[in-house]
Amino acid sequence: MKYYDKLIFELSKEGRVGYSLPKNQFPAAPELPLQVKRTSALCLPEVSEPDVVRHYTNLSQMNFGVDTGFYPLGSCTMKYNPKINEEIAALPGFNGLHPLMHAGLTKGALKVYQEMNKALAAITGMYAFTFDPCAGAHGELTGLMIMRQYHMNRGDLKRTKVIVPDSAHGTNPASAAVCGLEVVEVKSLENGRIDVEALKPLLDDSVAGIMMTNPNTLGLFETQIKTIAKLVHEAGGLLYYDGANMNPLMGVVRPGDMGFDIMHLNLHKTFSTPHGGGGPGAGPVGVAKHLEDCLPDIRVSGFHGNFGVILRAYAYILMLGKDNFKKVGQYSVLSANYIKESLKDLYKLPIEGVCKHEFVFDGLINDGAHDDVPGATTLDVAKRLLDYGFHAPTIYFPLLFHQALMIEPTETESKETIDAFIAVMRKIAEEAAADPMLLHDAPHNTPISRPDETAAARNPILKYQDAN
Ligand SMILES: *Cc1c(COP(=O)(O)O)cnc(C)c1O
Repeated sequence: MKYYDKLIFELSKEGRVGYSLPKNQFPAAPELPLQVKRTSALCLPEVSEPDVVRHYTNLSQMNFGVDTGFYPLGSCTMKYNPKINEEIAALPGFNGLHPLMHAGLTKGALKVYQEMNKALAAITGMYAFTFDPCAGAHGELTGLMIMRQYHMNRGDLKRTKVIVPDSAHGTNPASAAVCGLEVVEVKSLENGRIDVEALKPLLDDSVAGIMMTNPNTLGLFETQIKTIAKLVHEAGGLLYYDGANMNPLMGVVRPGDMGFDIMHLNLHKTFSTPHGGGGPGAGPVGVAKHLEDCLPDIRVSGFHGNFGVILRAYAYILMLGKDNFKKVGQYSVLSANYIKESLKDLYKLPIEGVCKHEFVFDGLINDGAHDDVPGATTLDVAKRLLDYGFHAPTIYFPLLFHQALMIEPTETESKETIDAFIAVMRKIAEEAAADPMLLHDAPHNTPISRPDETAAARNPILKYQDAN
């Protein structure tokens, strides 16, 4: 253990301070009443300023972020977060705003909402957006409430079912359930697309709508989307577009033109605002013109969503400009296909063909299993990647494959970085074939090895616990 791996309480030295204040020249303040006075001293570490700086800097380096390395987490679009976004969000005129300020003093911010509305409408083919929702899942819930409201406004009260494909992101059925709607699953074909024939019998007058991701979570474009839209609309339902992963379509195809009525975007994925670690997000919801009346007129979040996130996304759109916008999708698709083709001789590729911004492997072709030694799993590969300084891809999702390894490189990585990742993935496959035990014990070089993730989530230890 390095000296500064010690917890800050262990560095504490009685009487040491990290500040120096001028001598108090004022008369002593009146004594506090006894009942509000502390009876014991505060238990705080007594350390110098350099100790504090080193403590937090070292802690920050134990974490992995998009600013420290390649982060190919599928379905999460961990693209680089341009620093100019931060500069814009830190401008005092924006940073100093308070949501209860008089409208006359917030015209700049209102203009940002207005301009974003126009920009997102142009990008998606929707008519208008609400910026209240603070996450993708929050957008889904808001969008489904809009869907329900639409049917209620028409007195069509028996529409309580929402169709969700089996490849859907887990938040889709969860949001539908939270909204009080019944989830009906539709199966995928061998080629990873929705089975239109299986969809048809589900479309009756109890269907409120369908939720779709396109490209879906396998990174595959739903080629039958026009037919699906027609069938759902003819049955009186609406189409909801989960636009969390809009990245590959930017400037090329618009959900509005595919026939979708409602959608959300994840500004914290596609539009380059920081995420991970549960930071603030934004999941604006757009609707087609015929649903404008169903946009929420009461708030679904405190005030108007996360303004700082919306502002960063606006800066990103302006910085890219119209001509570069298209390249985002094109480069992200190129990078994903390049990795897929470079590794498919060593990792199982369940669905051949061109993918969009991401794709899924189903584990190793040769996992090295022999005698009593179990083969290397997707979890082992993911853990071993950490030893080589790369963040793991998304694993065991989507649920369609047992050893799913979902890779999304994004457009912001250089060919050199991607080549280095491919080389490491090949090396890991060779290691697995030769000695799977090496992978079972990985990671070997990280501050902690394999935490019990369930226990960590259920019983988190969030503050210093004195070992004595
Ligand atoms: C990330 C994601 C979501 C959920 O977004 P959150 O902001 O995490 O709530 C929903 N659908 C898809 C396809 C996603 O990738």
